[in-house]
Amino acid sequence: SICYLNGRFLPVGEASVSPMDRGFLFGDGAYEVIPVYSRRPFRLDEHVARLANTLAAIRLPDPHSAEQWQAIIRGVIERNEWEDQSVYLQVSRGADDKRNHAFPKVMRPTVFLMSEPLVTPPEAQRQAGVAAVSAADFRWLRCDLKTVALLANCLLRQHAVDQGCMETILFRDGFLTEGAASNIFVVRDGVILTPPKSHLMLPGITYDVVLELAARHGLAHEVREILEDEVRHADELWMTSSTKEVLPITTLDGRPVGDGKPGPVGQQMHAFYQDFKNTVMRIG
Ligand code: PMP
Repeated sequence: SICYLNGRFLPVGEASVSPMDRGFLFGDGAYEVIPVYSRRPFRLDEHVARLANTLAAIRLPDPHSAEQWQAIIRGVIERNEWEDQSVYLQVSRGADDKRNHAFPKVMRPTVFLMSEPLVTPPEAQRQAGVAAVSAADFRWLRCDLKTVALLANCLLRQHAVDQGCMETILFRDGFLTEGAASNIFVVRDGVILTPPKSHLMLPGITYDVVLELAARHGLAHEVREILEDEVRHADELWMTSSTKEVLPITTLDGRPVGDGKPGPVGQQMHAFYQDFKNTVMRIG
């Protein structure tokens, strides 16, 4: 596949970055994952805005304007063969001649983008729902930033995979935060619940779309702090992300969620999400 590295498009196998790059040495950088349907990036403005926000928060001078970012992303999409893609974008604080925690005097960010085929959950998985486990959220206190230092998220996702599960649902001080790589929605007594944005979770682009759709279609919903106990006694649980879309979780720590089958509110939301996506992407 064709990637983009510091101003050039080239086969990913030919791209190389210095081992002195701070992305490699310190995990010092920001990233985005943008879903592409029928060659059209979904919610591109929002992804580019979230990138700018992360870069500003980590004091990494943004090497590009929003328009330039959009052009680079579209450049990667058009050079790859797949109709549906998942575009990965990373900006690191670049290389220095010494390993030094403090920033280089002159920062030359490394900009890397690549694309993979977008694989959304297969129908069988959506019909059955997926299994999740839980864990204490031991990440740092800036989970609102999309930074590449993802060791905690990797350990937490592997914790699920080791148990044959798809996702780890995280609790901090007795409250739901999010998943290892997704946001979490809860349905109780017909009401859709999800935690408010804060430094404890990533402001998901899919999270925003789901809340917009709930409002537009008049589904009862509430954004508020959610107790661990409310998650454990939920009627429905869903995970949301750009690649998983809206996916039902039907077991948590080996126990069924509600009746153990994907619930009606989640199925409705999935349908609204597909309709919305196809309408804005002008598919079908
Ligand atoms: N939380 C975390 C920790 C994530 O890594 C992700 C995305 N991979 C999400 C939430 C979902 O965000 P989005 O809907 O923007 O993909």
